[in-house]
Amino acid sequence: MSRFLSVIPVADAIAVAEGIAPACAMETVPVEESYGRVLAADIVADTDIPGFDRSIVDGYAVRSADTVGAGDAVPALLRCVGRVSMGSSDPMLAIRGSECTYIPTGGVLPAGADAAVMVEYTEEAGDTILVKRTVSHGENVILRDGDFKRGETVFFTGRRLSPQDAGVLAACGCAAVPVAKKPVVGIISTGNELVPVTAVPGPGQVRDANAPMLAAWLAEYGCVPVLYGIVRDEREAFEQVIARALPSCDLVILSGGSSKDDRDMTAGVIAARGTVLVHGIAIAPGKPAIIGRIGGKPVIGLPGHPASAFVVLIAIVRPLLDRMLGQKCSRLRTLQATLAENIPSQRGREEYVRIRVEGGIATPLFGKSGLLNTLVKSDGLVCIPAGAEGLEKGSRIDVILW
Ligand code: AMP
Ligand code: MG
Repeated sequence: MSRFLSVIPVADAIAVAEGIAPACAMETVPVEESYGRVLAADIVADTDIPGFDRSIVDGYAVRSADTVGAGDAVPALLRCVGRVSMGSSDPMLAIRGSECTYIPTGGVLPAGADAAVMVEYTEEAGDTILVKRTVSHGENVILRDGDFKRGETVFFTGRRLSPQDAGVLAACGCAAVPVAKKPVVGIISTGNELVPVTAVPGPGQVRDANAPMLAAWLAEYGCVPVLYGIVRDEREAFEQVIARALPSCDLVILSGGSSKDDRDMTAGVIAARGTVLVHGIAIAPGKPAIIGRIGGKPVIGLPGHPASAFVVLIAIVRPLLDRMLGQKCSRLRTLQATLAENIPSQRGREEYVRIRVEGGIATPLFGKSGLLNTLVKSDGLVCIPAGAEGLEKGSRIDVILW
């Protein structure tokens, strides 16, 4: 076996990762818990929404034609023939020429009316209402299907649901929302030098920073992370923990040990129990990454350096998860900003640089990928494509926000 990685382009690595993504099963969740989940079926409005023509002001329901030319000096005089009450529709309540009814915000517009006048522009004089404004047809009124029409598809499969979406789902009568099950993702930290967060590191030791970082990102992305602790760089220990994790996980991620040194176990163990599909990606940081598969389940080897692990998580694992979840449009949020400095980059690899954005200005934070501090001082990443030799100061860039 060669001591060198056979590096492939990022796009190819993503295609491999997507190609082995097992589809998540479907489940239903209460609408109030649907936020952040990925929709697993199209949602169709079961009725017109709001369902009746309604006023959006407190005032009087009128025929707009009766208010033509009305103003402070020459009010229109309308006879008030009733009051609309909230939450019910009175079929007897109707207006004809020169008539109106009192109507509260959200009340059903009575037959014959086509607009509402705000109470502020009216004056009461017994049964007569003085209307001091002209209103046009449809003014201050929402039509019965003004929001959504019965039978209309309001959301399509693969949408990640927002809080506003939960409101629309509720309005559509969708109490139990069909969503993709959350993928269960096992996280295994590897390295003889690693100690748990509760330990005080001795000489040469480091606390396991990656596992909580990966778990937090995965939880936010809609997965269930399961931590399998720290394993030493010993083949048997790797085999045991992978065997333990695989049956209960949809995806297993190992951090560290993904390179080609004698102490790097990940590739060898995956190869023994399954297949290594990719070992080396033209990405910086993150080149010594692994995409493998054991028993139909993806197994990913991330480099141990925290920034490398995080970049590969976002660049490669994210599209894999999108595919597992059936998510159509990824949740990457970007922000345009002007680059404050030149960023040099090597051709032939996709480079991700941490960026801080303040007042529309993007400042690159150059730092070794073994350091954690740039990950928290930055707001996101900029991607320099493999074909480019860098980015020029003053250019407009898209920052992928954390
Ligand atoms: P490796 O990829 O195993 O060669 O590790 C590369 C570097 O990342 C080494 O300096 C490790 O100590 C460090 N490293 C590996 N795993 C972790 C981790 N879970 N938390 C923090 N640093 C790590
Ligand atoms: Mg290691």
